[in-house]
Amino acid sequence: APLVLHHFFDRAVALYGDKTAMICSGRTVTYRELGERVSRLANGLRGLGVRKGDRVAYLAPNTLEMLEGFYGVFEVGGVMVPLNTRLKPDDYVFILNHSETKVLFVDQELYGLIAPVKNKLETVEEIIVHHKTEAAIDETAYEEWLAAQSSAPVPRPMIDENDICSLLYTSGTTGNPKGVMLTHRNNYLHALVTMHHLRVSDRDTYLHVLPMFHVNGWGAPFYYTANGATQIGLRKVDPKVIFDLVKEHQVTVMHMAPTVLNMLLQYYEQYQPDVPEGVRVVIAGSAPPPAFVARVEEKLGWEFIQVYGMTESSPLSTISLIRPQLDGLPVEQKQRLKAKAGYPMIGCEVKVVDENGEEVPKNGRAIGEVIVRSHGVMKGYWKNEEATAATIRDGWLYTGDMATVDEYGHIDIVDRKKDIIISGGENISSIEVEGALYEHPAVLEAAVIAVPHEKWGETPHAFVVVRPGHTVSEEELIAFSREKLAHFKAITGVTFVDELPKTASGKIQKVHLRRQYWDAIG
Ligand code: ATP
Ligand code: MG
Repeated sequence: APLVLHHFFDRAVALYGDKTAMICSGRTVTYRELGERVSRLANGLRGLGVRKGDRVAYLAPNTLEMLEGFYGVFEVGGVMVPLNTRLKPDDYVFILNHSETKVLFVDQELYGLIAPVKNKLETVEEIIVHHKTEAAIDETAYEEWLAAQSSAPVPRPMIDENDICSLLYTSGTTGNPKGVMLTHRNNYLHALVTMHHLRVSDRDTYLHVLPMFHVNGWGAPFYYTANGATQIGLRKVDPKVIFDLVKEHQVTVMHMAPTVLNMLLQYYEQYQPDVPEGVRVVIAGSAPPPAFVARVEEKLGWEFIQVYGMTESSPLSTISLIRPQLDGLPVEQKQRLKAKAGYPMIGCEVKVVDENGEEVPKNGRAIGEVIVRSHGVMKGYWKNEEATAATIRDGWLYTGDMATVDEYGHIDIVDRKKDIIISGGENISSIEVEGALYEHPAVLEAAVIAVPHEKWGETPHAFVVVRPGHTVSEEELIAFSREKLAHFKAITGVTFVDELPKTASGKIQKVHLRRQYWDAIG
């Protein structure tokens, strides 16, 4: 049978019909009810003329409506285009026109982002708002529309496993987002491998912290659904709400960016909420320093699991060592290993290569670019053959991430190629410098970029958010970094800021920091 994603959903509805599929904003639905709603949605989409290969976009936080969209769109062979909720109206115009989206579903609270640019949408034929509001009075309202559809299963079109199931636009951390074409096979095999590594089962309750429009939040529903786990929606990332939901629903697993986990820690230290044990936190998106891993494990008592990946590979390719494998190791060594991106997942080949494509020595020191060959590697960038050819060469995905690899094959991400600081001919990892700054008690958040230096070419400069109730000077932080790091890696300047610019999934956007730095020096 072809590896198509609705198998996962069919299985959950058949085996776990009476079990809670999702709880969101006080509403609970079982898998059977979800199945019925998905059938109605699929019938509605057919009625709107959505056929195999047509694009359907979603602009919504992590809600029930968003989750059912996944399966409803696949039932009719459609391609899901989940939209980042933190873009500007014109960005939506670009993505919706570029993807040639036919139907757009919008959460009522986000409708204001679409209303002003409606007349610029060239291909969207229908906008459906998840709940009726005054502002969206002219649009179709989802619940009424859904209720008017048949709940009989739709005739499914023939789907090949290599057909596209989603167009995911990249985070835009480094520039304009690109549309990544992922196939049913990509997501199917990625889900099988990931559910194994994360030990997903029907006893899991997954809280949607990472946005579902982001590749990591997007892939997760497949493996939690396939196993009949319960999913909890989350409209907005708020530490209090997260701690409350974890407790109320006995959440067992969450995925988030380290910046979000940092927010949770900060909240915990201030308010000491009740923290249930037994939670696995899957950390993705950027490398956390070992000191951070230690704080999470000691204070929250949650299992910290680091993964590495990118939209272009569905996303995950490596995972840090997790329980059983780590039992018996000294705590410090454990935390050092967990702060690494880890070992390739099953079915993923990961190499670290130099400019000539030769593997760098496996000594944990030599730096090269990470390349990946796996079931997860995308079909290509949508309508951008040039970028596809530059990124996938001889079957290998060139990630643009620089790393070292140790004798056992553990990958440690050093930096993005674009973020590495080259000072006096030496490569400096901005991540390593940030890690040193995070050890200072007054540092809440730090991001390091390269700035020009007369003598050394470039030098590290830090943007720092100070922890509430603390003070620290630029000189003190420079001296601190010189204590912690080889002198050529130490920062030479600090810009104090109230917050760091972040993508919706919580990644720090260094492009904006560079711009800010240049603006400040005129
Ligand atoms: P864009 O490609 O639009 O600039 P982006 O690269 O941030 O945005 P994503 O595909 O969401 O978009 O993110 C993938 C990137 O995130 C990786 O290429 C890598 O740089 C970073 N990343 C992911 N996991 C880790 C990790 N465990 N450690 C360090 N960096 C990571
Ligand atoms: Mg990228």
